[in-house]
Amino acid sequence: MFPLLIAASLVFTPADAAFAYSNAVEIVRDCSPRDAGTIRGGIAAFHILDLASIAGANVRLDRFSDTTPRGVRHFTNLSAEFVANPTGEWVVVVSHYDTKAGTGCPGANDGASTSGLLISLAGVLASRQFDGGNVMLVWTDGEECFESYSANDGFHGSRRAAARLKESGRKVRGVVCVDMLGDRDLGISIPRNGTDSLAEAALRAAAARGLKGLVARADIVVKDDHQPFLDLGFPAIDLIDFSYGPDNSWWHTKEDTPDKISIESLHKAGELVAGIITELFNDR
Ligand SMILES: [Zn+2]
Repeated sequence: MFPLLIAASLVFTPADAAFAYSNAVEIVRDCSPRDAGTIRGGIAAFHILDLASIAGANVRLDRFSDTTPRGVRHFTNLSAEFVANPTGEWVVVVSHYDTKAGTGCPGANDGASTSGLLISLAGVLASRQFDGGNVMLVWTDGEECFESYSANDGFHGSRRAAARLKESGRKVRGVVCVDMLGDRDLGISIPRNGTDSLAEAALRAAAARGLKGLVARADIVVKDDHQPFLDLGFPAIDLIDFSYGPDNSWWHTKEDTPDKISIESLHKAGELVAGIITELFNDR
């Protein structure tokens, strides 16, 4: 038996990225489309549960109902917690896994790439005993809206997760939402609707991990899973590559297939997230 490696700096290796990629490919192959409230959406949740549990994480399912423009639907969030200090602060990393309803979109980049990344990150956190601080990973359902974003359409999982986090009374250092970060042609934006100090930490992490130029603040507002956390007063940012294929034509279409994502991009995205977690806990 090897002793667990205890580290204050979290590293995401090329092997971790290869695992993230294979997870994303499996999610697409076995569970797509994964529209919220459908059987295949449920299969995707259990597939993520399986993969992350096998990777060493203690994963919880949270089944809930919510009103949508198509009536009451059932959703499933998943979460895994890695505790370094029971009374300390938390960094929360969020990825949605659902696909856009009715489009037949396989969601390789939009949903599967970052969900696969979080499964791999779960394995990293479980096996390498990061002692910098507490980390929670959340896979959300129902990020996509059925018609257009409103109080009862879209962000079903993130609104639920944000409310539960608030109820828990935990101290939260930051919420980092990751979306569409598997794109072979990766360029990451930090939209304007986010917490300034977290955006600065992300830029410092990028520089520290040799990823300067990959990440930039963008003067755009993006509706994504970080918004419900911001609305409840948590510091939060979104990391998103919202330029996917010619004129974004692979987004929410049948073109969003695994050949459009890469291990290299997932390595960069994973290193960035690992760098941000490290940065947030060292920056006190
Ligand atoms: Zn989407």
